[in-house]
Amino acid sequence: MKLDEDFSAVPADRHMPGHTSREILVIFSSLTTCDPANIYDLIKTLKSLKIRVSVIGLSAEVRVCTVLTRETGGSYNVILDESHFKELLTFHVKPPPASSTSECSLIRMGFPQHVIASTSDQDAKPSFSMSHLESSDGGPGLSLGGYYCPQCRAKYTELPVECKVCGLTLVSAPHLARSFHHLFPLEAFQECPLEEHTGDRFCQACQGELKDKSVFTCPVCASVFCVECDVFIHDTLHCCPCCIQRQGAS
Ligand SMILES: [Zn+2]
Ligand SMILES: [Zn+2]
Ligand SMILES: [Zn+2]
Repeated sequence: MKLDEDFSAVPADRHMPGHTSREILVIFSSLTTCDPANIYDLIKTLKSLKIRVSVIGLSAEVRVCTVLTRETGGSYNVILDESHFKELLTFHVKPPPASSTSECSLIRMGFPQHVIASTSDQDAKPSFSMSHLESSDGGPGLSLGGYYCPQCRAKYTELPVECKVCGLTLVSAPHLARSFHHLFPLEAFQECPLEEHTGDRFCQACQGELKDKSVFTCPVCASVFCVECDVFIHDTLHCCPCCIQRQGAS
């Protein structure tokens, strides 16, 4: 492992407002490290920049990693087997809960719609995405459709991105919802035995007949769900599909 990035040269606030957190995940299989400078100085720098470093060890515990993770507030685990590795890795996929010391700030955001120019449209001309103008490899080149900044109409092929022209943060609503649910998780549905359940005989999500031992009721919209859909809604969707449907209809 070479941790020779000169983090001290990076100003602490570059691209990163105070409400964000920075993470480094190191997957480490060696039993030795090779450091061009004093590793403890680097750990101090990481700590002062509030960069959290976590390590997943593939062979055995290494002391420098223990110090690194302890000082920066990360986690250090050594895997037991392949499935344990997957488990540890997916644990890092979820954004960490926001710490109480981080600042709050309001951010202006734009929600561009994806515009698909039809090929039959005579006026449709392929254009470059703003994000590819600066990259040296040229990117995928010309394309017909894309996301257009609602403020300045600059085109991007991917979200999220900060508009290079007007500086507006462009995101898609699903992206935002995906990080939002970690802050406000969906309430657990009320479980009740099937015998006591009166009302709909079909799951409101998969439309299958309710025949498991228990049924699950959304406390907000009172829709009923089967066990599998309840698990899917809480683990994957993170929102009640019937509540969303009602919001859309009203
Ligand atoms: Zn813009
Ligand atoms: Zn179902
Ligand atoms: Zn609901």
